Amino acid sequence: MATALVKKHKYASSAILAGSLVSAAAAITHYYKTSAARSSPPLHPLLDSGIKKGDPKFSGGKLRCHCASRTVEVTLDGNVAHNHACGCSKCWKPEGALFSIVGVIPRDQLRVTANGDKLYVVDDKAAIQRHACEECGCHMYGRIEAEHPFKGLDFVHVELSEDKGWQEPQFAAFVSSIIEQGFDAGKMGDVRAKLKSIGLETFDSLSPPLMDLIASWTAEKKA
Ligand SMILES: [Zn+2]
Ligand SMILES: [Zn+2]
Repeated sequence: MATALVKKHKYASSAILAGSLVSAAAAITHYYKTSAARSSPPLHPLLDSGIKKGDPKFSGGKLRCHCASRTVEVTLDGNVAHNHACGCSKCWKPEGALFSIVGVIPRDQLRVTANGDKLYVVDDKAAIQRHACEECGCHMYGRIEAEHPFKGLDFVHVELSEDKGWQEPQFAAFVSSIIEQGFDAGKMGDVRAKLKSIGLETFDSLSPPLMDLIASWTAEKKA
């Protein structure tokens, strides 16, 4: 009888021990997950502390390059669309950021309103002609001149604006491309988890609506 009691007690305590081990393991996993998210490299200043929603009624504003004098100014007569984080190597991004934030606006809603003489085309062979400031390097707008599904849309970085209300980033594109620029492939899980945690779906191309647009354009060209 006494032995049975002891045995029972033993089982009970090992059950408690097993239970606390499980919760300890869960706590450790949680700790590592959150510390991984905390220590994961900076994505972009507009993403790292969470996404601030834009104003759907926002009607545009000005982009300014980083030069202290003779600042290049671009005026946008409307909000951007398809704003997103992009991991490609061509988009302009701030120092140390893994992603750029880039959106589009119809080209007739974009005007260079000051010091346009400082702009040059970064790569005139690229589909998107990126007009950058020759002094500070900021890309002020990207324009497509060739036949292309996105012809008529200009690409802009709204972080160059002090105005508030621009559409918030909607998704993350070309995420795997950051590896080509030297990012450790083994840490991609952290990057994707961080993007998802702030509400951005991740793609290794563009978003499905944009990919559909490209495919429709191609199909129409073939027809
Ligand atoms: Zn500049
Ligand atoms: Zn890009």
